[in-house]
Amino acid sequence: LEEGARSCLLRFRLKLEEDIKPTYLMDHMISDGVMTVDEEERIRTQDQAGALIELLLRKDNLTYISFYNALVKEAYDDLASLLHRDLPHISLNPHKGSSDGSSRLSEGGIPQRPVVFVNRPELVNRAREKLYRLQKDPGWITVFGMAGSGKSVLAAEAVRDHGIIEDCFPGGVHWLSIGQVDKPDLLVKVQSLCFRLEQSLDSQLLHRPPNSLDEAKERLRFLMLRRYPRSLLILDDIWDSTVLKVFDIHCRVLLTTRNRSLTDSVSGAKHEVEVESGLDENKALEILALYTRIKLQALPEEARSIVKECKGSPLVVSLIGALLREKPNRWRYYLRQLQMKQFKRIRKSSSYDYDALDQAMAASIEVLPDEHRDLYKDLTVLQKDVKIPAKVLSVLWDLEPEEVEDILEEFVNKSLLFMDNNSKPYLYYLHDLQIDFLLEQNRTQLESLHTKVVRQYQQHYRDGPPTSGDKESLYWIQYLTYHMAKANLTQELYSLMFSLNWVITKAKIMGPAHLINDYVEYGFILDQENSEVRSQFQEFLSLNGHQLEQRPFPDVVQLALSQPPNSEVYKQARVQAQNRTKAG
Ligand code: ADP
Repeated sequence: LEEGARSCLLRFRLKLEEDIKPTYLMDHMISDGVMTVDEEERIRTQDQAGALIELLLRKDNLTYISFYNALVKEAYDDLASLLHRDLPHISLNPHKGSSDGSSRLSEGGIPQRPVVFVNRPELVNRAREKLYRLQKDPGWITVFGMAGSGKSVLAAEAVRDHGIIEDCFPGGVHWLSIGQVDKPDLLVKVQSLCFRLEQSLDSQLLHRPPNSLDEAKERLRFLMLRRYPRSLLILDDIWDSTVLKVFDIHCRVLLTTRNRSLTDSVSGAKHEVEVESGLDENKALEILALYTRIKLQALPEEARSIVKECKGSPLVVSLIGALLREKPNRWRYYLRQLQMKQFKRIRKSSSYDYDALDQAMAASIEVLPDEHRDLYKDLTVLQKDVKIPAKVLSVLWDLEPEEVEDILEEFVNKSLLFMDNNSKPYLYYLHDLQIDFLLEQNRTQLESLHTKVVRQYQQHYRDGPPTSGDKESLYWIQYLTYHMAKANLTQELYSLMFSLNWVITKAKIMGPAHLINDYVEYGFILDQENSEVRSQFQEFLSLNGHQLEQRPFPDVVQLALSQPPNSEVYKQARVQAQNRTKAG
């Protein structure tokens, strides 16, 4: 630990020891991988706060930073500001030889623990036991269970173990969120996985991204076999067995899914872990206790009924817990809300206790201040499994980044939104069931909600679309057409998609696969304006797909000039070429 940081800790030791509750802080620190479960246990049994400070003094800069971040997250703002001045500067050095493999977990994109977390040791052990079966041989582990039952949290927890990584997966663990994807989406995801894997090997070498799923599969096969032998891929939230075909490359895979039989169509050894839909009563009560900071034994009698009403669903209990943290005298009220089940609309998939989720969501949203409730409603238009950076919301909401930050923190604290802090900038997302809920609740306003997205984009980017490939711009490049189509803004969609400039921007940032998919997917809308032009664009892209994959990026205007002269693509290219000549 740096001298400055150490002296700061010593200086404010007494104050820290008086004020902090280590339990919550340590959860964050374990998530960050700077503290082991053993250390946590020891601190729990000793004079907690003092022991934690002792430990910090013995640890490194990263631990100090993690502790600081934990203070911020737990709203110890004044304590955090005391430590802030002496925060060490860290240079990210890949050879620092981390002691417990946890930095490797975050490199692999393994999500951290949720804000409030309870251990499910029996379940975790079952999962770890299956992981050990992959020690010698490749194969598949299917973690299956209902939505919101805690599959993703379990998958992350199962690999948070130094021994398993050492023994079974010395090649590392790599997490990929899949969700409901079509082929182009899947291709982009596999491309980004390959990119991640290649980058950490050798940043000098720039590989062209694979431009078809077949090619992606071969690239991945090579990487997993040659460069990352004995590593584990975690595929989160798989819906469709065709997705698995891409990963059927004789490697080690753990997948989470609601559909138990997905691996029927792939080859290799197969194992299963079933996640029960609800937590044991005691575990669920523990979540409520942790949120409300009441001792387990001292919980009011309503606690038990709440757990029973939602059948122990971790997601629902967390939502209610977050509500109670702020309104500790509303136990009875929330219980009654859960029991009322006023949203009783029959759902297609009735296998899950949606009523409980609806009630919990409705209650959580109700306690938001009016203006934040409207902002939350705006999230209805997000696609499932798409994670977005705060900047996108600052465009959508037309708010300063700092304000957005505060609002997002509020949503995250209420379990209304989840945060992925493995990437920079942080990304935010909703659980599938929450999107279902919002869609249901706002189903008469979808068009206007999507329209708002488009209008805000137009307002913010009135001088032209973003041209860099950073995460913030990526969202717009990828989903603008989707919002326009959903908003029924057909004019806007035509003029965007029938523009060579847009094609250049999107192809440069995302490659041609997504673009071509747009013309296919929205073909039925575009054709109402002009089916000729639509097919001219589509044809141009199909013919030049391989060129548009190349880096450095080709001169698209030149490519377009070889289209037939009656093609709209050609016409636009010619205007641009003439402008260039004029400009000299
Ligand atoms: P699934 O992948 O099955 O849909 P998740 O793993 O995403 O479900 O969990 C849904 C939510 O339930 C989490 O965001 C978290 O709030 C809560 N949750 C799940 N497991 C736990 C746990 N062990 N402790 C506390 N909360 C949990």
